[in-house]
Amino acid sequence: MKEATTLEPRNCFLCGSSNLVSVNYLRLNSDSFKRNLAYFLPRFVAEFLSNASDRFSTAYHPVSVNKKYFDRTAVFCLNCLTGSCQPVFEKDVLDNYYRDFYWLNRDAGDGQHVAHDDRPNDRQLSLSRERIAWIKLYLHKFDSVIDFGAGDCAAAYIFSREENVNAATVVDPSMRASVFAEKYRLGYSTDLAEAPIVDMIYSAHSIEHVHDFRVVMTDLVAKVRPGGHIFIETPNIGDLDVFSRLPHTPHTFMLSQSSFHFLESAFPVSIVAMESCGPLWRRNKKQIVSDERADLRVLLRKAGDA
Ligand SMILES: [Zn+2]
Repeated sequence: MKEATTLEPRNCFLCGSSNLVSVNYLRLNSDSFKRNLAYFLPRFVAEFLSNASDRFSTAYHPVSVNKKYFDRTAVFCLNCLTGSCQPVFEKDVLDNYYRDFYWLNRDAGDGQHVAHDDRPNDRQLSLSRERIAWIKLYLHKFDSVIDFGAGDCAAAYIFSREENVNAATVVDPSMRASVFAEKYRLGYSTDLAEAPIVDMIYSAHSIEHVHDFRVVMTDLVAKVRPGGHIFIETPNIGDLDVFSRLPHTPHTFMLSQSSFHFLESAFPVSIVAMESCGPLWRRNKKQIVSDERADLRVLLRKAGDA
């Protein structure tokens, strides 16, 4: 749609710089030939093949959903090294995408989030334990925690069962999160507005999925007591090379260490610790040449008087 181009920002939503690079969000930059081909197919060809073959129809479904929602622009700021999908999503539209498509497709696809009868998936538990161990290098006491965008609730489960946190609250609009929260006897709220104020918010691989980064950061900061903490882990879009060569679907924001330094002047928070972690991007994504690691974790402290 032509309208979308007029909504493209001239200035970075985080630092205000006009030094921006724009590309089509769904561009053909994957190292998977099949994926590129699927996105390249014109709509009428895809419809014809879907009608002719159930197998094609099933395989093509995620592509057609992504095309419906993400026919947008990916913008990267060369000043603060922060990216976003533009125009910014309406909250309802993005909620629909997750409710009707994302989790169903993900569960069918990788199996890494499928829970046991009595506990979350072991791989998710071990990833959460490792992140919580990192937090505890810097932070020794927290009695109340929000697990924001909790998904299968693995982190909230550990806070409540292994870390003796008094109140662990899951905040996640998805139906599956509410089912798991009830099963594991965790607090639950569909959205931050109804959640309690806590000592710490834990957000692992959720902030890159939100509809509006500044709005959600404002809400997160409001839900932490003065002097409390926010832990964020997110993909590390550390430079223009990673931004340009990585398929971002369905991420709406792309953050780097620099993003968090700029965040310190936009919000009443300071960085306690920050590191890039995980394997190098180029180990698994052959099209990437950058030396950046795939993940970024940061512990923020809210000002004592804010
Ligand atoms: Zn910027």
